Amino acid sequence: MFKPDREQAFAKTALALMGGAGVIATPDNFELFYAYASGENTAITQAMSAAINAKIPLTPELLSDLRLRCLSGARAAVAMENVGGGMSKVIDDVLGRLEAAGKDTADYKHALTAATGELGANLDQGRTPADLRRLVDGLISATRAMEQRAKSLEGELQASSQKVDELRTKLADVRKESLTDPLTNIANRKAFDDAAAAAAEAALGGEAVSLLICDIDHFKKFNDNWGHQTGDQVLRLVAACLSENVKGRDTAARYGGEEFAVLLRGSGLKDAAHVAEQIRQTVETKKLVKKSTGDVLGAITISIGVSQFAPGEAVEAVVRRADACLYGAKRNGRNLVIAQNDARMAALETSAA
Ligand code: GH3
Ligand code: MG
Ligand code: MG
Repeated sequence: MFKPDREQAFAKTALALMGGAGVIATPDNFELFYAYASGENTAITQAMSAAINAKIPLTPELLSDLRLRCLSGARAAVAMENVGGGMSKVIDDVLGRLEAAGKDTADYKHALTAATGELGANLDQGRTPADLRRLVDGLISATRAMEQRAKSLEGELQASSQKVDELRTKLADVRKESLTDPLTNIANRKAFDDAAAAAAEAALGGEAVSLLICDIDHFKKFNDNWGHQTGDQVLRLVAACLSENVKGRDTAARYGGEEFAVLLRGSGLKDAAHVAEQIRQTVETKKLVKKSTGDVLGAITISIGVSQFAPGEAVEAVVRRADACLYGAKRNGRNLVIAQNDARMAALETSAA
């Protein structure tokens, strides 16, 4: 139930907390702090209490991560509950109608049995044709009523089946939403995890499957210079560049704050490095202009690590290897693609030893 006083109090607390923590009052942040103030989302309450108690600064990165992990899932859960509720209502409704129809059929059967009995009695006792007429008229009207009932039941069931179709579409939408990153509109971390598990299976079956981990270069500085909102636009742009360069069964996903992962099905290391290079170039050549002011923001670059699934290898191991390559790309000057078989990786291992 809507309780304005309570909600007003939550909103006030949320704003006060944001002010106290030096967090900018964007709608996204407000949503997080409101959830915290109301205690309606246990995951957020726990994570934020832990950060506040440990005096960990509530950086945009931390808040964005919280939003990714806790809010989209909660939203999907509420939507799922609504669809589930709708589904049970339709089922109850159909069951109710069938029960009523069953009762009508039983009544009809009862009327028929009674008429049969009366017919026998009439013949035995030599009743008049008028008696028979009355009996037959009764049967005809009972049959008509039954026919009518069957027709309306058919209509009612048709309406229910339409409702089920609508709910099925809604369910598909909710499912899609629960697997999509709301900021960039590409696959989210959960969708990536699902696709990576399927990719590992495929690799076990002998398919060549590769992984790219992409990270925006010096993104912290970009945010510091141009603001977090503009930074968010860059995340959207990079996501679009990834989508532009993948196809079919590939998956481009937002892996973390400013990190993206791409699963390339049917691609060995060489092909994957080629796709990564195309992505790197696509991002590098985009011209960034701040719409509101016309300021030229300069180029954005990304670094990419590339690894290939070995048959039977766990996803974590493949991710770790791509991550190591990404680290190698950063060490070698950024705006680079480095694959696991790159000589620069061997050099890095030697220098680390
Ligand atoms: P490097 O080239 O080594 O990757 O440097 P970097 O500055 O990109 O890396 P670092 O890990 O120091 O900082 C990552 C930055 O990404 C910090 C944070 O401001 C930014 N970031 C993470 N998530 C988001 C987000 O959702 N929106 C915006 N705008 N920025 C984000
Ligand atoms: Mg990073
Ligand atoms: Mg970075």
